[in-house]
Amino acid sequence: MTALWRNLTMGRMLAESGRGGSTPHEATGAMREAAGRENSRWGAYSWLAPKAEMQARHAGFPGPDGAGLPGSGPPGPLAGFACAVKANLAVEGWPCDCGSRLLQGYLSPYDATVVRRLRAAGCGFLGVAAMDEFGMGSSCEFSCHGPVRNPWRPDCTPGGSSGGGAAAVAAGLAWFALGSDTGGSVRLPAHCCGVVGFKPTYGRISRFGLTAYASSLDTVGILARSVGDAALVYQAIAGRDPHDATTAVVPVAPCPDGPPDRQWRVGVVRPGPAQALEPAAAANFTQSLGIAGKVFGKMKDVDSLIDEVDVGVYTILAFAEAASNLARFDGSLYGQRGRQAEGGRSFGRMVRAVRSAGFGPEVKRRILLGTHVLSTGYRARTYDRAQAARRRLIAAFAEGFSRCDLLILPTASGGAFPLGSRLADPAAMYATDRFTVPASLAGLPAVTIPTGLDDRGLPLSVQLVGPPWSEATLLAAAQALEAEFRFRERKEAPWNR
Ligand code: GLN
Repeated sequence: MTALWRNLTMGRMLAESGRGGSTPHEATGAMREAAGRENSRWGAYSWLAPKAEMQARHAGFPGPDGAGLPGSGPPGPLAGFACAVKANLAVEGWPCDCGSRLLQGYLSPYDATVVRRLRAAGCGFLGVAAMDEFGMGSSCEFSCHGPVRNPWRPDCTPGGSSGGGAAAVAAGLAWFALGSDTGGSVRLPAHCCGVVGFKPTYGRISRFGLTAYASSLDTVGILARSVGDAALVYQAIAGRDPHDATTAVVPVAPCPDGPPDRQWRVGVVRPGPAQALEPAAAANFTQSLGIAGKVFGKMKDVDSLIDEVDVGVYTILAFAEAASNLARFDGSLYGQRGRQAEGGRSFGRMVRAVRSAGFGPEVKRRILLGTHVLSTGYRARTYDRAQAARRRLIAAFAEGFSRCDLLILPTASGGAFPLGSRLADPAAMYATDRFTVPASLAGLPAVTIPTGLDDRGLPLSVQLVGPPWSEATLLAAAQALEAEFRFRERKEAPWNR
């Protein structure tokens, strides 16, 4: 029989423990033991918290000798639960290598705001989740720790860049995971691993302690076992933070519990001919729209807001911001200087040696392209035009939301792809994000819910996108939809095996 902690949502675990079953603390202790035994199968965690540390920092977790104080942890909505944290988020004293050789050995001197808020909610931390280097990738193959494997099928990628967190949640080795989503890095891995992926409005959750990739697009996101769990975590971490001036003062509306009290006007965004879905994904999308119609009532098609151009616009803007953000990794404050840089050489040579040896090929490609699009003579033709296209997309979404409360669209054109299959073709890798980058460019909240399996037995999903600050409505709608798909109950799922 599958252990309860492997497949129960946090909501159900709390209910079980209320009826006299095991406590979240005990369940999390068992989960940490299992992670120690099983993690090497998936490579989901690049670092696991020593059990002694989990106990010391999080009173109440059973110790290695089984001695614990069940139920005596700090009170709070997440008391006794623990999560995986993406390797680009700061946890005091923990490695924060962003999946990069350049930062191997670097330990965070402080907690990110989201981490601090989770601690305050009683939540603990199981370890650091592997990721594509600095968030750059869609497959978790660009990591200094080697590729992460998909728990549904180990020869496939878990999606990226938050693939380690998605794999940990799917394998039942984390209650949930904190990730980051710049162009789809939470939603795509959630899609590939059959879990819920949620990215809030830009500015809704603090980025203090998140290593910057593309600052105008970066958001902290949540990978969870259910929409209800994602909402629980969201409410613990969202809201204004004096340490991040881009966080909004808009109050965080409570997520409704239970069925909606009104009809939603839902618009369907259909992929254009150039963005054809794989046949199994197309069939699943049509079927999902039928189910969504039952939940939401009549839906109307909106002009496609997805344009092939969007990936190019995203690429130009994200790479430009990345090139400038990554300039700080020069070996003087951050980064391994290594032996090459020793021996009284010049500062310039040291920087060159550190960056040449530390960054992987994908990161270098992006720094070069990002520097190019910002250079004199090219900027007007590339960067400025991409900014204008981004403004047009924002206006098109605003127009769409004047007629709809929510939009429904696919998350990706097919299920998880085999390891290695897109490595030689960067354009194909970038195009993986064609359905997720629009919400990122427009700074909109979006959630993906697993809907079914493709012909290879790999998960598929739909994506709901809402107007700015509509998280509460969006999550309520997603929860209503999730109840129809009942995806968690699937026997073949890794958490039910
Ligand atoms: N896959 C996209 C990229 O490589 C998005 C990554 C992300 O959201 N961090 O840029």
